[in-house]
Amino acid sequence: MTANAESAAAEDPLAGLAAALFRPMDAEGVYARTALYEGVIEALGARVSAQRVPEAEVLRFPPVMSRRQLEKSGYLDSFPNLLGCVCALHGSESAIRSAADRYAKGGDWTSALAPSDLVLSPAACYPLYPLVAARGRVPAAGLIFDVAGDCFRREPSRSLDRLQSFRMREFVRVGTAEQIREFRDDWMTRAQTLAQDLGLAATLEVASDPFFGRVGQMKAVSQVQQSLKFELLIPYHAGTRPTACMSFNYHREHFGQVWGIQGERGELAHTGCVAFGMDRLAVALFAQHGTVTARWPAGVRRALAL
Ligand code: AMP
Ligand code: ZN
Repeated sequence: MTANAESAAAEDPLAGLAAALFRPMDAEGVYARTALYEGVIEALGARVSAQRVPEAEVLRFPPVMSRRQLEKSGYLDSFPNLLGCVCALHGSESAIRSAADRYAKGGDWTSALAPSDLVLSPAACYPLYPLVAARGRVPAAGLIFDVAGDCFRREPSRSLDRLQSFRMREFVRVGTAEQIREFRDDWMTRAQTLAQDLGLAATLEVASDPFFGRVGQMKAVSQVQQSLKFELLIPYHAGTRPTACMSFNYHREHFGQVWGIQGERGELAHTGCVAFGMDRLAVALFAQHGTVTARWPAGVRRALAL
């Protein structure tokens, strides 16, 4: 290792993994992924699928969603700093041509950009709630979904556990408060077993979202007081702050209210979701067990069918 590489590794204990897992794409937290890395992502995905209940409906979302739907969900109140919006060159052929020509002449073409009706999805479950609402009243047994998508959050970082573009897999439950609580408690237990099977030392803690601004800090306190969010934390390296690799969220009637999702008797439906940060889990596996999967502990390889 060169002196530079050594000091980088000392600053970021994950830096040594990058060469095996990722290729740079000229933007912080945005990487091309190697076959080695994707093999583990796929194995993890299969392991999660194996835990899906048969009644779960599977939906896979694209990396973009309706801007209107995300605005209506309240995202701008909570995390306006993290949102990415798709912009494009609109207008006449000549207006578009002249903007593009400005780039060719070394000028700025981006001032001609205007927002489109799309945003980059910041979590996998947002597009689900309007779909559920459109189906009419939720049956007494409630509903359960398995969703996934590429997510974007504008939080550039050099650390391999904080990406701008990452994969999220979620199980989402819609029903009564009781049904959501039971679902979430069950998953908090299962997730710890899963971490154990994967040879990862994990702890479960009550948590809060990184709400924006000063008002946001009050929201975070209230979220903790009501125990609405828990996280599965995994220390990538001894002595470093553990990373949140999964979250267990109870939204109460928030999405029920926003989208008019009703239960059998017309009452507002409650929702909750269990989110797997697929990239963070995969990085945790490599950080813990090394970059040669053939040398991973036998139990871990069995758990992932590697
Ligand atoms: P959250 O909706 O913030 O609870 O996120 C759900 C999960 O997505 C987290 O537990 C992380 O595992 C993962 N995640 C969130 N933000 C990032 C990020 N910037 N980079 C990688 N994974 C992330
Ligand atoms: Zn969710």
